[in-house]
Amino acid sequence: MKIIRKIKELQNITTDLKRSNQTIGFVATMGFLHEGHLTLMEQSKLENDILVSSIFVNPLQFGPTEDFSEYPRDEERDIALAKKAGVDYLFLPSVEEMYPEENKIRMSITERVNVLCGQSRPGHFDGVITVLTKLFHIVQADRTYFGLKDAQQVAVVDSLLSHLNFPTELVGIPTVRESDGLAKSSRNVRLLESEREEAIYLYQSLLRAQQLVIDGENNPAMIVEEVKSMLEEHTTGRIDYVELLSFPSLQKVDQVNEQFIIAIAVQFTHARLIDNLIIDSNGSIVKQYK
Ligand code: AMP
Repeated sequence: MKIIRKIKELQNITTDLKRSNQTIGFVATMGFLHEGHLTLMEQSKLENDILVSSIFVNPLQFGPTEDFSEYPRDEERDIALAKKAGVDYLFLPSVEEMYPEENKIRMSITERVNVLCGQSRPGHFDGVITVLTKLFHIVQADRTYFGLKDAQQVAVVDSLLSHLNFPTELVGIPTVRESDGLAKSSRNVRLLESEREEAIYLYQSLLRAQQLVIDGENNPAMIVEEVKSMLEEHTTGRIDYVELLSFPSLQKVDQVNEQFIIAIAVQFTHARLIDNLIIDSNGSIVKQYK
């Protein structure tokens, strides 16, 4: 595995790889790697000749009161894990390398961002698409892998790639969970011990929503209410949102009769957790996004 910290160096390598007709798979991360990230890498290894991964905690996607400086980081451990996962090129740029000058250019997206995290984290997805546009130009991937744990991000990246005609295919990968159902996240280490126990109710409440649909409930408001009351009963966290929307268009729906997402965000003392299920009209969980 080669570690690269300079944009030009990686771009020269990926240009040469393209010239020699090798396919490139890309996994963008903010590090503190866990099995969720490793699963994206595994899938990329299956489908491409070369795996490029990046670790970059992107300041542009954090709001002024968010956890940019406290975001967990462990470069040495991440390098070892990436090597073991078979990453060919690990891109570890500094903030200065990615943004040598402040605020010179910023992408902006209006589609699929007026709900969920886009609504409660203003500017977040503008930061996401700005860094991804840079990374996509640097990496020149044939396929790029994202986790459905961040389903709105998948929907937004899908918009970015199609509206701006990036020659890159998006692959969405199912959420990897702990054995008790909690979605793996770099932020889980910031939960207090008691909150870690409560956090299983994020997934439990989503499963409850799924069961309601299987039992014939098709009123979104009823389903959302049930999820909220389960979260309120079992967690001390502050509910940021519980929403049921069409997926991937993320529109409000009057009835549950097409593929939809039920998504939640809960703010605990030091960690804001998100989780979701994407469910088809029969109540089955949708796992793949291509
Ligand atoms: P992050 O480092 O949190 O920015 O995540 C990098 C990529 O890994 C994103 O595409 C995430 O959606 C994905 N990811 C994070 N957690 C999980 C998980 N538990 N299961 C699947 N993918 C995940």
